Order: sequence, then structure tokens, then C-alpha cells
Amino acid sequence: MLETIQVNTPDHCVAVDITDLVSRKIQESGIQSGVCLVYVPHTTAGIFVNEGADPAVLEDIMQALEKLVPWRAGYKHAEGNSAAHIRSILVGGSAHLIIENGRLLLGTWERVFLCEFDGPRTRKLRVKMLAG
Ligand code: ZN
Repeated sequence: MLETIQVNTPDHCVAVDITDLVSRKIQESGIQSGVCLVYVPHTTAGIFVNEGADPAVLEDIMQALEKLVPWRAGYKHAEGNSAAHIRSILVGGSAHLIIENGRLLLGTWERVFLCEFDGPRTRKLRVKMLAG
């Protein structure tokens, strides 16, 4: 089963919690046990699973990515958003998640985040769910 989720990112560089959006697709699928692949088909965005309890963690992650890959550093790409492309590679463009008892099987503090590196934009996520 393939689904699409659309997300309007609110800022230039921001992590958006998409856990509830993905969970809704799983519930609608009726799958009780299986695997869920969330993929972002954009070259300046990423997906990760990490702590969602303390918002300071997200701020630290995004700040660290900005320090690792500054927006301006003499890049050659004419569009001017090479930092966003590079951050996208560092974070990765997909997450493999486990469905159990009809729900996402995440750690206590874990949430799924869409990482925007060149927003605000409208992003589409592909969600592939397999029972098994
Ligand atoms: Zn570009």
C-alpha cells in the first residue's frame, strides 16, 4: 500500500513532527503487523527518528547541522542552496519503521521528523506499508 502525505514546512530550516500523520496512514491501512517506509522525494529535505519530548534536542540537532554545513561556504551550485543538499545527505531521505498492533513501534521518547533545509515549501512524503 502506497500513500502520500503533504506537509507545509513553516520555516527555512526546521524539523516537523510527522509521527501523527504517519500513524494515521497506518491506522487507515488496517495493517496490524508489518513495515512502514517513509521516503521524502526531495533533495533538500530529510527524515530522521529522534527524541520528541524535549524541544531543545531538536534545536540542538538543527544548530549542529548548521555548524557542520554553513549556508555560505563558497559552494558552486548556482541555485545557492548547496548547504540544504548536503544536510539532506547527512540526515538521509527515509526511515524504516515497524508496525506492531496496528501502531508504530517507536521508543518511549522517539518521534518521526521531516527535516526541512530550504523552506518554507510544500513537501510530499511517500509512505509504503507492507504487512507481514
Ligand atoms: Zn539546489
